[in-house]
Amino acid sequence: MNELPLKKDIDYKIISFNIPTPFPIGPVHSYLLFDDKITLVDSGPKTEKAWKAFVYQLNENGFRLKDIDQIILTHDHVDHSGLLALIKEHHPKIRIFAHSLTKLDVEKNKDYLERKIHFFEELYRKNGLSAMQIESIQQFYYTLQNYADPIKVDDELVDGMQVPGNKEWQVLHTPGHAGGHITLYHPQLNILIAGDHILGHTSSGTFIEAPYKEGEERPKSILQYRNSLNRLKQLEISTIYSGHGDVILNAREVINRELDRFEKRANELYEQMSTGSNSYTVYDLMQIMYPNRFQKHLNLYFSEVLSHLDLLEEMGRVKKVETMNLVKYHI
Ligand SMILES: [Zn+2]
Repeated sequence: MNELPLKKDIDYKIISFNIPTPFPIGPVHSYLLFDDKITLVDSGPKTEKAWKAFVYQLNENGFRLKDIDQIILTHDHVDHSGLLALIKEHHPKIRIFAHSLTKLDVEKNKDYLERKIHFFEELYRKNGLSAMQIESIQQFYYTLQNYADPIKVDDELVDGMQVPGNKEWQVLHTPGHAGGHITLYHPQLNILIAGDHILGHTSSGTFIEAPYKEGEERPKSILQYRNSLNRLKQLEISTIYSGHGDVILNAREVINRELDRFEKRANELYEQMSTGSNSYTVYDLMQIMYPNRFQKHLNLYFSEVLSHLDLLEEMGRVKKVETMNLVKYHI
């Protein structure tokens, strides 16, 4: 656990945790904010290693679990939310805050989850994946669930609100990496606590999401992501504390890099599609774009291709045609 470097003229403290995860992304960062209330931002996955590291780093800095008043969750992913159930079990008075869309996932509402599983089954099938591949993605999804037990969200976070008990911090709803993703902005210190919305050492994934309500269209995550990044570009941000990796001191550069990346990858996809007069399923394009990698992380590359097709479609550069219950794209 480290005390982070802040502007020297302002007396303010943020403490960061480094919590191990079993995932390729590596350790996850949680943060402690101090004001009227002590707020923990994010936790870690539900593993013994993560729990021990969290408690050890907390104690090492002179705090006990019951000193924490509340937890803010940036988004639902298990590497950020998984320890919450255990923290709540040991400290039942702690309050948990999250966006309403994050709440849907972390509370593991049965109807919502069933609808989501069914939606993805259909989506994968229509976009060219085989029954076996769909089964393997579902297995991966069920395995992920082992890293987080359901938790109840006490209060919902809304865009623009101040964090209760830490009023200098403003909540920004920044969907893209996850639909309910929020970031915390401190306008006096020009700091952003970014969760996975912006990472310095790597690019954060854009994940396809199911509709939040029955009968709705699925949200276009990449378009949301682009809007969220453009919105952050308007803010004065000098330092970004992310969910993974080092502190970012060149915020604007990293935000621009991410925006350029969307365009660059969309262009690569377009180039590939323009080499013939074919129309392609998402699965065709996964094989063409990521021949050596797509089998290992099917859901990741599926999201990557479909997101960028969403972007190209929105620009009017590709068209989507549904035939024989199969969705194909052409330029
Ligand atoms: Zn994430």
